[in-house]
Amino acid sequence: MAERIVLFGGTFNPIHHGHLIVARAVAEYFHFERVILVPAAVPPHKPLADEPAQEGATPVLPSAEQRLAMIRQAIAGEKLFDVTDTELKRRPPSYTFDTLMAFRQEHGLEAQLYWVVGADMLEDLPSWHRAEEVVDMATIITAARPPWSERLAETLGKLRARFSPEQVARLAAAAAPTPLIDISSTQIRHRVRERKSIKFLTPEPVINYIKKHGLYTRPG
Ligand code: ATP
Repeated sequence: MAERIVLFGGTFNPIHHGHLIVARAVAEYFHFERVILVPAAVPPHKPLADEPAQEGATPVLPSAEQRLAMIRQAIAGEKLFDVTDTELKRRPPSYTFDTLMAFRQEHGLEAQLYWVVGADMLEDLPSWHRAEEVVDMATIITAARPPWSERLAETLGKLRARFSPEQVARLAAAAAPTPLIDISSTQIRHRVRERKSIKFLTPEPVINYIKKHGLYTRPG
């Protein structure tokens, strides 16, 4: 059987149980033995682009190495998960196209490449760098995510304006019925900043790491 390489890209700022539960569900559904997490390199200002400008010092943001360290701690000892720093070693922005090319070159033409996204990312697909080629290079697996997966059919309909009927059919066929987990990194960052508990949202070692390094809080 051809080698199957399953990649799950994201900012992971920080990694949370939504990522992990959904990735495991994808693996079970498609009978994958391993999912490789691919943290993206992001410019320093990007992670907080969603936060409104507020008075006071800027919250402490994790470096790329710290996002990677949190992933490593979250998946330690889990056979299902692996992580690659391939995008962190390249200059941002991290293009999925480049990452897929790198894996294609390393593993050869026979390997089957898969790229996992949440339903929110499927809506963004037309804006991806060399999107058509990405869709041809890898099977894009869409995991359910509230509330975006409620309008999955509509999203797929819109993708017809950009992608061929065959490409849209492949995207539709690779939508996975994963559990709906309403957890986001944004929610975790906000809760830490508001000094609310993030227990149950992300693995304990990640919670401890965030505390130890004072991440997402304002210094002082
Ligand atoms: P942020 O809140 O900072 O935007 P995020 O929670 O969306 O972050 P990312 O690391 O940006 O996390 O997401 C990486 C990938 O994981 C994306 O494809 C995203 O759609 C998917 N994803 C993240 N959280 C979930 C979730 N709860 N359910 C399904 N997919 C998810």
